[in-house]
Amino acid sequence: MANDTDFDIAIIGGGSVGISLACALGQIEPAPRVVLIEAHDYKNLPPPGFDSRTVALSYSSRQIFEGLQLWKSIEQRGISPIEMIHISDRGHPGMTRLTANEQGVEALGYVIENRILGEALFARLSAFSNITLMAPARMQQLDFKNDRVILQGSMNDEAFQLTTRLVVAADGTESFVRKFMNISQRHWDYQQTAVIANVACDRPHNHVAYERFTRDGPMALLPLTDLDEAKNRYGLVWTVPQNRVEQVLALNDEQFRTELAVHFGERAGKFVRIGKRASYPLGLSHINEHVRHRLAFIGNAAHTLHPVAGQGFNLGLRDVAALAQVLQDALAAQQDPGDLDVLQAYAKWRRRDHIQTAVFTDSLVRVFSTDFTPLVLVRNAGLLAMEMFAPLRKRLGRHAMGYIGRASLLARGLRL
Ligand SMILES: Cc1cc2nc3c(=O)[nH]c(=O)nc-3n(C[C@H](O)[C@H](O)[C@H](O)COP(=O)(O)OP(=O)(O)OC[C@H]3O[C@@H](n4cnc5c(N)ncnc54)[C@H](O)[C@@H]3O)c2cc1C
Repeated sequence: MANDTDFDIAIIGGGSVGISLACALGQIEPAPRVVLIEAHDYKNLPPPGFDSRTVALSYSSRQIFEGLQLWKSIEQRGISPIEMIHISDRGHPGMTRLTANEQGVEALGYVIENRILGEALFARLSAFSNITLMAPARMQQLDFKNDRVILQGSMNDEAFQLTTRLVVAADGTESFVRKFMNISQRHWDYQQTAVIANVACDRPHNHVAYERFTRDGPMALLPLTDLDEAKNRYGLVWTVPQNRVEQVLALNDEQFRTELAVHFGERAGKFVRIGKRASYPLGLSHINEHVRHRLAFIGNAAHTLHPVAGQGFNLGLRDVAALAQVLQDALAAQQDPGDLDVLQAYAKWRRRDHIQTAVFTDSLVRVFSTDFTPLVLVRNAGLLAMEMFAPLRKRLGRHAMGYIGRASLLARGLRL
């Protein structure tokens, strides 16, 4: 019998992926009883996923947010469309440009500050009466029985116990659930760290995003909305080797600007303002089992990517769209949402996208981080060929826009 501590679905982790799943499950009929458990307090100390970083949303993520009836609210809070992506290889002639026009879409993607995306998601969550939010609450123990999972944790220093038919782990790269369940993953440490900051240039960005590959690692400039006090802003993601991070973070603004101009050049103009800097160590991980009986993994808990191609959150959002659709079908057919057959349908559906996106991202990092002459020649020939042949650009553009494998209802902009 259902009561206040008995749920159909428990989502562990309310970062951008977990909270998106809660918004999707809020929409479906028959409405499942869902609990979202997040370690941080959204009001006083928002989760790390909603920090000062910017996120490039692919066009297919826009469609998912349209299906979730969230896009208007995201758009109103301030997004900057990407109309062109300029890709270049420092010190070499190879370059190419992808345009929205050529791909037949209004924008290749959209740039938004994580904090703003978090506000929009959090505001939408309160519209659903079938979603219970527990935050700040930390998951500490899971006990899998045949017909239920017993969850134990603490909220405001008080222990709680819940039961659920399905646990969805959305608890990020260092997933507590993955470790607790002793599920292995493949992991590769790139020995690189992303230094991020919002910067401003002396020329309008005209909605161009830049991806520049350098010997040290890739760097990206993502066009941001203007503020009254700062125009021509970009979100900078600068990959530096681990042994140089401290040095780069210790530079004063003037030194940082100079160093940035040396690595990036002046194709976007002169850097005139540098915001607060933060750093994130970079790795690639991929869980070996996406589902078990009464358990599914989504987002960074399942796969963490290098941010070079801006794919991590977009991939996680496509997990959300597929899992929500599979669960809706199961509930409509009065199936148990924690049943392994149901969850395997989700895992099978997502496999191709997970592998292709990870391989694509990893290859970019490796192929562009080497001075090995044959590879330098091949990658520059590849970029130049892309610049000359529209079908090649079209293929790359579709990948960047997030069109890989079978599209979910949400990824087609439809409601669940
Ligand atoms: C520098 C950088 C730039 C990036 N740029 C892009 C981009 O342009 N485009 C893109 O698509 N992606 C980008 N990404 C990737 C993107 O940020 C991540 O893929 C995304 O934030 C993952 O979200 P998540 O919700 O899966 O995980 P997280 O954001 O890590 O959320 C996990 C949540 O689980 C909670 N949690 C953990 N343990 C527990 C527990 N025991 N109990 C309760 N709660 C718990 C945490 O508090 C946290 O809120 C970038 C990443 C980096 C580092």
